[in-house]
Amino acid sequence: MKKVLNKLEVFTAEDPMPFLHPEGDPWKDVREIERIKLEWNLSYRHCLGKYSRFFLELEKGRFLATECPNCGKVWATPRPVCADCLTICKWKELPGMGTLVSHSISEFVPAFMKVETPYVLALVRLDGADTLFAHQLKNYGRREDIKDEMGVKVVYAKEPVAHPILLMCFEPL
Ligand SMILES: [Zn+2]
Repeated sequence: MKKVLNKLEVFTAEDPMPFLHPEGDPWKDVREIERIKLEWNLSYRHCLGKYSRFFLELEKGRFLATECPNCGKVWATPRPVCADCLTICKWKELPGMGTLVSHSISEFVPAFMKVETPYVLALVRLDGADTLFAHQLKNYGRREDIKDEMGVKVVYAKEPVAHPILLMCFEPL
């Protein structure tokens, strides 16, 4: 009878560096390895908090920044509180046009992202904003066509998405 239900196998791990052990494997007493099967299914409720309205407006095809009523700085990525003067900000809609300031191209991404590669991460200064917004650049054609200082726009997802931040991305003008 199987005493451990999730046991997969027992095997002997080889010494990966036998050339370093002319007198014998010093780890030989711990090379018997038991492999078991574990399953993780993590599910939890995540609150988007003070950023919620930003994501809710993305569903309507609207891009919101926040504006500081004290110093006038416009934050996009939105900030509930102005990082410069600690004043509570107001929401402000931006037209969703901007300029590519910098970008990086990744050939590999973590599997959980479920995106095509190469993945282009764009740093964009949106018209009317004083800060930079980082998000994926899509439909750029050839990678040689991606030029910093080129115009980009916010594009909204037409299909249902797995996370609200995927409701938008950037595309060249
Ligand atoms: Zn401020």
